[in-house]
Amino acid sequence: MKIFNTMTRQKEEFVPLEDGKVSMYVCGPTVYNLIHIGNARPMIVFDTFRRYLEYKGYDVNYVSNFTDVDDKIIKKANEEGVDASVISERYIAECKKDMADMNVKPATTHPLATKEIQGMIDMISTLIEKGYAYAAADGTVYYRTRKFAEYGKLSHKNLDDLQAGHRDIKVTGDLKEDALDFVLWKPKKEGEPYWESPWCDGRPGWHIECSVMSKKYLGDEIDIHAGGEDLIFPHHENEIAQSEAANGVPFAKYWMHNGFLNINNQKMSKSLGNFFTVRDIAEKYDLQVLRFFMLSAHYRSPLNFSADLMEAAKNGLERIRTAGSTLKRQMEAAAAEEMSDAERTSYEETAAYVEKFEAAMDDDANTADAVSAVFELVKYINTNASSDNSREYLQKLYDRLDTLCGVLGIILEQKEELLDADVEALIQERTDAKKAKNFARADEIRDQLKDMGILLEDTREGVKWKRA
Ligand code: AMP
Ligand code: ZN
Repeated sequence: MKIFNTMTRQKEEFVPLEDGKVSMYVCGPTVYNLIHIGNARPMIVFDTFRRYLEYKGYDVNYVSNFTDVDDKIIKKANEEGVDASVISERYIAECKKDMADMNVKPATTHPLATKEIQGMIDMISTLIEKGYAYAAADGTVYYRTRKFAEYGKLSHKNLDDLQAGHRDIKVTGDLKEDALDFVLWKPKKEGEPYWESPWCDGRPGWHIECSVMSKKYLGDEIDIHAGGEDLIFPHHENEIAQSEAANGVPFAKYWMHNGFLNINNQKMSKSLGNFFTVRDIAEKYDLQVLRFFMLSAHYRSPLNFSADLMEAAKNGLERIRTAGSTLKRQMEAAAAEEMSDAERTSYEETAAYVEKFEAAMDDDANTADAVSAVFELVKYINTNASSDNSREYLQKLYDRLDTLCGVLGIILEQKEELLDADVEALIQERTDAKKAKNFARADEIRDQLKDMGILLEDTREGVKWKRA
């Protein structure tokens, strides 16, 4: 299996540090709001890669953090007049719900930055002892970037070019020795959460969090470190500088970065305001459609979000699911027999699609080609299966399709679930029926929703609903 390593800018054969095991760290979101579908891209593509590694028999230790202390979280907490932890806990719960709805498996560990402060203080102390960091007069601790000779090796940036870019930014009163130095620990400000440290009461910089959580849960040297391509510089470059200087061994063997999810060819981001949350999409679509849409492109390519592409994804997914449900129906009608020789030969032919699927995934997780292989299998099934076949043959075809879908995180058997928009439309219809004094219809709708696990509550502000 080959993966494209951002460090060497080449596809490299994947050889894990330890036979049969993979350690993987994926930088997670900063939790101050509902996640948008740009944030969902790394979650979906790296979850799919993890599933493929597991399919190949690897034991995967998958760690993905939540950044739960940050300026944006504090700002939101101050706006709402609550503790920062109220904001981060709320959005971690919401994020986990979105992940489950997108069929993203929970990580082996989801560490929280605020629970790992001691590890950060320890690593910063080591860096100071080794001469890679220093505390300024106000208690800020900086990393001495020029001391790390290999700085820039991941992003392929040259220190002198970086220095030139920084020249104008260095402000008077700045306590850094050098404009390139970055923050490891910063003093508290009024109204901010803080922790005691040998340097000042304060909080960690963002980059040190990941170095420390990766070390604690995966070890000094890991197989794969991943995230969106905006993290290559400075976040991952700084993580390398911190971890390699502190631990004295290479940090990650392979660096994987997903391309941006764009909208009108511009990166989707909170700051530009051009985003859709995963929740927005869930109002219109089963989130399996979103997942399928993401997998229709190679993870390193930019992907432009559009209604047309979502519709195409919806239709594509439907085609696969229809093949699955048709097989199920055929199985019910078919004779409970074992495969005939002709059926065995036919089934063996479908191994070619599995090979194609694996070849695509082995080539730097090319999910776009893997999806094509699934479509080819669907086409084969549609022309070579009927209720005249034996049940065993139909079951085997179903299992084969289900296995490949499972690697992609696509659930073949569609749940009969109402979308939020459908629920709201029914509630509106019930309100209208009540206004028109058609109470029989109103009660009928309430019962129908109850059967589907939707509970209604009539309040003064209108009808509220929740899933049972
Ligand atoms: P953040 O919460 O901004 O730190 O982002 C969490 C993860 O989402 C990181 O891996 C980012 O690289 C990734 N990400 C954010 N926006 C996008 C986007 N528009 N397309 C792809 N990945 C993104
Ligand atoms: Zn990180």
